[in-house]
Amino acid sequence: MDLSAIMQALRVRPAEARPLLLMDFDGTLVDLTHDPDAVELSSVRRGLLQRLVDRPDLTIGVISGRRVADLRVKVAVGDAAYCAGLHGLEIVGPGIDFLHSRAADTRVLIQQLTRSLIDATKDLAGVRVENKDLTVAMHVRGAAPAAQRRAEDILRELVEPHREAGALRVLRGHQVFELLPAVVWTKGDAVVRIKTEVEWRYKQAAWLIYVGDDVTDEDAFRAVGPEGMTIAVGDRPASAAFRLPNPDAVERFLRQLALADP
Ligand SMILES: [Mg+2]
Repeated sequence: MDLSAIMQALRVRPAEARPLLLMDFDGTLVDLTHDPDAVELSSVRRGLLQRLVDRPDLTIGVISGRRVADLRVKVAVGDAAYCAGLHGLEIVGPGIDFLHSRAADTRVLIQQLTRSLIDATKDLAGVRVENKDLTVAMHVRGAAPAAQRRAEDILRELVEPHREAGALRVLRGHQVFELLPAVVWTKGDAVVRIKTEVEWRYKQAAWLIYVGDDVTDEDAFRAVGPEGMTIAVGDRPASAAFRLPNPDAVERFLRQLALADP
């Protein structure tokens, strides 16, 4: 396990830089489940995040595919932590209240496709369509392989004309497909946006730490680059410098960070 190496790298970070810890939520701070609504952050982990929020020498944030409103309820550590939802299309936090200008443009189309998708997949056991208003996610984690393939075919057929027309894109995560506006804007852009704000607020360079478990976190790892610290959770993301096995190990990391000297 990389935890001691991570703590060592933290100690030798650039002097004068302010640590900015950004984390994915599902699969990183909480275990993945079939029902994202039922997920709860443990009081121990919330307490650790709160300690980090309360530290004057660093800043934290969560970047997720969930809606910001949902994320804020799940994380529940107050307004001082940054929250980015819909893979970065919306960001709130000190000095930022951002919704990507293109997100509203495709809402009607996405709502149409959401209804079609629900209808077309209603007989596929374990396939769940999650309406996020500005995007739609199709979860196949609970489905048998044949149903997963069928669901993917249905989605591709529904979306293809709109993808070709340049209106929508499909973001593929681990056992989830999401329809998003076809804007070039990822979790990596949210990382940069939050970093810029933090550096402006504190008149200090930010030193990025990003923790994530899915292939959609690769964009964030790229945005952090080799100057910062990238931590993959589990074995999916390939491009991180460090790796922790699971959310329990992330909890141990948060505890050590919360107790670490500035
Ligand atoms: Mg995740």
